[in-house]
Amino acid sequence: MRHHPTETTLAAYAGGALPEPMGLVVATHLFGCPACRRLTAMAEAVGGTLLEDLPPAAIDDDALALVLARTERPVAPAKPSRLQGGLPPPLNACSFGPWRRLGLGLRWRALNSGSHVQAGLLEGAPGKSLPRHSHAGMELTCVIAGSFRDGHERYVAGDLVEIEGEHRHQPIIDASGPCLCIIATEGVKFSGLLGFAQRLLTD
Ligand SMILES: [Zn+2]
Repeated sequence: MRHHPTETTLAAYAGGALPEPMGLVVATHLFGCPACRRLTAMAEAVGGTLLEDLPPAAIDDDALALVLARTERPVAPAKPSRLQGGLPPPLNACSFGPWRRLGLGLRWRALNSGSHVQAGLLEGAPGKSLPRHSHAGMELTCVIAGSFRDGHERYVAGDLVEIEGEHRHQPIIDASGPCLCIIATEGVKFSGLLGFAQRLLTD
């Protein structure tokens, strides 16, 4: 695992400032990442008072460093429970809709949440590529199983992909097996495949 949430995102998560579906994606990464669990536990230990005083917009790149600078005491990260039913524990209690085929070797299972953030499980068949698309907001993805490539980077189980703003990309699933991800997104803009986008976003 080589890809982790930014410190900004971890600080927001620790302070309860992330929309719930985004928090679920971060929690899925934390399940498999002791380093980020340690950082989050430290931020939570001192951050309650500090971060609650800040509006979300005030949480910048230095937020976590600021929080950590104010704590000296070591914090033991919570021990995660075991993987059950094919999904990491943070997702076990979640309510998902039925699997829906999107075509192109992809299927989607929406997370039932009242949030404005669209979230769900996306599974891609080996060797398939997602349509080239760009983003209108923030998108968090955590790989649950399998792996994919995006440009020069490769993402494997546990990796968290964080995309912000006008970023165009085209992930390609590795040929070795299907890839299952949990995704939370504020907005995706597909070029050319409007039907795909509509089915995905109106699910
Ligand atoms: Zn991590």
